[in-house]
Amino acid sequence: MKILSDYSLLELKQILADFPSFRAKQVFDAIIQAKDYSETNLPKSMIENLKKDFILKPINIYKVLTSKDGTKKYLLSTYDNNLVECVFLHQDYGNTICMSTQIGCRMGCKFCASTLNGLIRNLSAGEMLSMIAVVNADNGKNSERNFTNIVLMGSGEPFDNYANVVKWLELITDKDGFNVSERNISISTCGLVDKIYEFSKLNYNITLCVSLHATDDETRKTIMPIANKYSIDEIIKALQSYVKENKRRVVFEYCLIKDVNDSFQNAERLKKLTENLNCHINVICLNPNGGTLKATTKHEAYAFVKKLNDLGVSATLRRSQGSDIEGACGMLRAKTLNKINKKNS
Ligand code: SAH
Repeated sequence: MKILSDYSLLELKQILADFPSFRAKQVFDAIIQAKDYSETNLPKSMIENLKKDFILKPINIYKVLTSKDGTKKYLLSTYDNNLVECVFLHQDYGNTICMSTQIGCRMGCKFCASTLNGLIRNLSAGEMLSMIAVVNADNGKNSERNFTNIVLMGSGEPFDNYANVVKWLELITDKDGFNVSERNISISTCGLVDKIYEFSKLNYNITLCVSLHATDDETRKTIMPIANKYSIDEIIKALQSYVKENKRRVVFEYCLIKDVNDSFQNAERLKKLTENLNCHINVICLNPNGGTLKATTKHEAYAFVKKLNDLGVSATLRRSQGSDIEGACGMLRAKTLNKINKKNS
């Protein structure tokens, strides 16, 4: 089976060339409005015809949890019965959707729940578009856009699903569709250096974020296996080239882990590492996922950020939203899978 949301409007017009030309736009609108066949005004005969080869709505809501702060965490089911997460965050400067790019993840970061059961498969561009459509429709009227920003910071490594993420960028910025401004999209990577170079050539105006989480390679290797492949120096060089090509400031994510990366010495090393780079550092407090890694206290986190600021580094402590509803990457999915497995055994 193929997925209709994998195609741009232009491609749909070609695929549906046997039907009157306005039908392609109708299908495209149905995708954006998260409608399945029965909810469209397509003729019955066309629906029967399409159903043989194509899925119209590949993503559906499995469960929604709403946090005290209004954050909504979605557990979504795919057409092949996998589960993926998506988060809707209410923010003063426009709502944000945090989206997954893969089912599971194979990067193996020690602190991250998304990677616990490895990678199941990539999400297609159309599935990612459909995730946005489903969450958007659940937060207001179908035909309106109820969010401003999208961050690819859910489960999965976007640059490990490079081709689909690039295709998704084409779909989500389409003027006939959600028409999201490139400037309102952030992609977070654990630092796949070859892909950073490849992506910078595409000249997208998006914000590139890199999960750094350590200031030396040896420490980074203990929490992020990708550090065995690429050094911090190589990441910084790739980002310097990205900033040069795209004229966009890059963002580092730095998750504070008690006694691993949270000393003032780390702050000083961060200053050194980022000296020649137009960047901002988003400091995050670890949301412990049951492993041995512990969170730095809020108080110490503020002191760490103040130290960075005193050193002249642009850095802020990211407000944690939805921590009462398994807000961090992959936690809700991991818990739900655990429950389902227990029931079945
Ligand atoms: N694979 C990509 C995007 C997904 S993770 C990447 O590594 O950037 C998005 C961000 O959430 C990353 O910075 C990640 O390191 C962070 N994160 C994952 N688990 C976390 C946890 N338990 N507590 C705090 N931040 C976490």
